[in-house]
Amino acid sequence: MTSTSNVDPAELAKFSDLAHRWWDKESEFRPLHEINPLRLDWIGQLSPLAGKRVVDIGCGGGILADAMARKGAEVLGIDLSTKSLRVAQLHALEAETPNVQYREISAESLAAEQAAGFDVVTCMEMLEHVPEPASIVRACAKLVRPGGWVFFSTINRNPKSFVFAILGAEYILNLLPRGTHAYAKFIRPSELARFCRDAKLELRQPRGMQYNPLTRRYWLDDDPSVNYLFATQRPLNQGA
Ligand code: SAH
Repeated sequence: MTSTSNVDPAELAKFSDLAHRWWDKESEFRPLHEINPLRLDWIGQLSPLAGKRVVDIGCGGGILADAMARKGAEVLGIDLSTKSLRVAQLHALEAETPNVQYREISAESLAAEQAAGFDVVTCMEMLEHVPEPASIVRACAKLVRPGGWVFFSTINRNPKSFVFAILGAEYILNLLPRGTHAYAKFIRPSELARFCRDAKLELRQPRGMQYNPLTRRYWLDDDPSVNYLFATQRPLNQGA
């Protein structure tokens, strides 16, 4: 039986309703397309992707999963939005992306099925959409092999992130549809660090991600005040 309790149906509906636009680079998903090379490079620098078994949790239309497969990884993308998965699959067929598969299964269920089955786990822009992010972090820790890497990205919770990620992105710049993000579900780096610690993942590299609306450029730096990423690793010599 697939466990799907750690999911908010309204969140899935938001992504399913837009699913046909995942690969339209001028659509609501433009920001994800624009940040994709940045996160892909960062992941690849810490854990070169060629030949790796990778699972992408909350893969949506497959923007990152597809790119990692093109770098030579064998990628499984999972999500609970049926329509998004169908779009991801179709894209892989049309673009003839090698070595990418998509499955509708929760992170928790896949972890029960394939513990330590992956060299790399990615979970980007997804934790802020689930009722219990700590449970996803635990599942990621279980999915990765000892010595393997788990990469997260999400949004900080403070007055600045409210202004930039909600007011700015959804109401002023119209980068994202209104209602994409709920402030209360944003996650402070200290909270994500605690989830990781509790799951026995070691934080190797926290990064901040910035956006300049005038130049429409994104870049990574050390300021995690709005968008940020965590590179974590499961220790090699961990008992369980
Ligand atoms: N990771 C992708 C997509 C981010 S959008 C990227 O960065 O390009 C957030 C995605 O999380 C959506 O596709 C949504 O369907 C998915 N999602 C939301 N709740 C989920 C859950 N409980 N389990 C799996 N996926 C979920």
